[in-house]
Amino acid sequence: MKVLRIKELATDRIKKGYPILEELDFFDKEELVEGDFVRLVDNHYKFVALGYIGSEKKTAGWVLSLDDSDKIDYAFFDRLFRMARERRSAFYADKKTTAFRMFNGDGDGIGGLTIDYYDGYYIFSWYSEGIYQHKDMILKAFKVAIPDFKGIYEKCHYPNAPHKSKFVEGNKAEEPIVILENGVRYNIYLDEGWMTGLFLDQRNVRNKIMEEWGLGRKVLNTFSYTGAFSVAAAMGGAVKTVNVDVANRSKERTKEQFEVNGLDSEQHEIRKMDVFDYLDYAQKHQLQFDLIVLDPPTFARTKKRTFSVEKNYTELVAEAIQVLAPGGLIITSTNARTVSRDDFFDSVNLAFEELDVDAYLVEEYSLPEDFAVNNENPNSNYLKVFVLQRTKE
Ligand code: SAH
Repeated sequence: MKVLRIKELATDRIKKGYPILEELDFFDKEELVEGDFVRLVDNHYKFVALGYIGSEKKTAGWVLSLDDSDKIDYAFFDRLFRMARERRSAFYADKKTTAFRMFNGDGDGIGGLTIDYYDGYYIFSWYSEGIYQHKDMILKAFKVAIPDFKGIYEKCHYPNAPHKSKFVEGNKAEEPIVILENGVRYNIYLDEGWMTGLFLDQRNVRNKIMEEWGLGRKVLNTFSYTGAFSVAAAMGGAVKTVNVDVANRSKERTKEQFEVNGLDSEQHEIRKMDVFDYLDYAQKHQLQFDLIVLDPPTFARTKKRTFSVEKNYTELVAEAIQVLAPGGLIITSTNARTVSRDDFFDSVNLAFEELDVDAYLVEEYSLPEDFAVNNENPNSNYLKVFVLQRTKE
């Protein structure tokens, strides 16, 4: 295995468990070859860690083990997959929830790879060419550890990948398949670009909406995608939902999600529109909602404007507050890794302060249990959700 010397600061970080390698950690970045398994040593050539080189934005690679006696081979990956499965035995046993994250990157020991479970089908998401180079060995280990899969699909998330999405092996599903989440049905497309129709990391938020926050409420779901939050609300007794998304597909896909649950999609509004335009419109028409969901992408450019969580979240909340009924709930969410929990909380609160509207924090969410987090890598705990209630006054 190739030996690479790393600088002192990086050595300390890695020994403490930080799993990310950066170019600056190395003396000579010319030595970094995509896909290499490497033995990392300190200044005095003493063992520090085993890892691989795989470039992914600012990341140059990942630490795989701090144990000098480990070998990065088929058996190593086989062991990690068995452990990941064991950790999720409650999910495998749960008849009411049939989709979850089965392997979560560095939280389960391999940065740059996630695996999602959808009712017996598995989706591998590869985040660098470096890790993808080892896909044959990794898949082989997976199939021995988890032999009872129906089919395997993959998503490639790195630049210049051969494809975004592909069926790999086993049985090809008839699309869409239907999964359950706390008893609610969702249509899933396993082989359509990077996204499947459902973001599994919001499961606990959807469940709470279904169990408690939907009842009797009029709901505005912005950046609604396939309307999953609205379906949960409607299943929980919401009177009506309004869904707003610019994507062409959104309307048809949202309709489907209602209908697969036996809900009448005609009772819900599904609008293909920019969220900011809709909020303008709603203000002009003095519409009011008792539950508003704000879960935008980290960054989005539409024809008219650019939205970034870092720059525009306060503005988004401020626009939404103006159509939030007194006593109403607002769910603010982001998956932006670059924004800390505290900064995000401040940006949400700032909107209430600017408008002089009182609200209090009802609940906070981060990633659900299946999205295992590496505690030494705060970035991996990316989901931040604050639920605030406007006071009645
Ligand atoms: N909240 C959704 C996921 C949102 S994914 C859920 O939980 O299922 C992000 C969505 O935002 C995409 O569907 C995209 O089409 C939409 N989008 C991005 N910018 C937008 C804008 N300015 N107005 C409306 N929709 C937008």
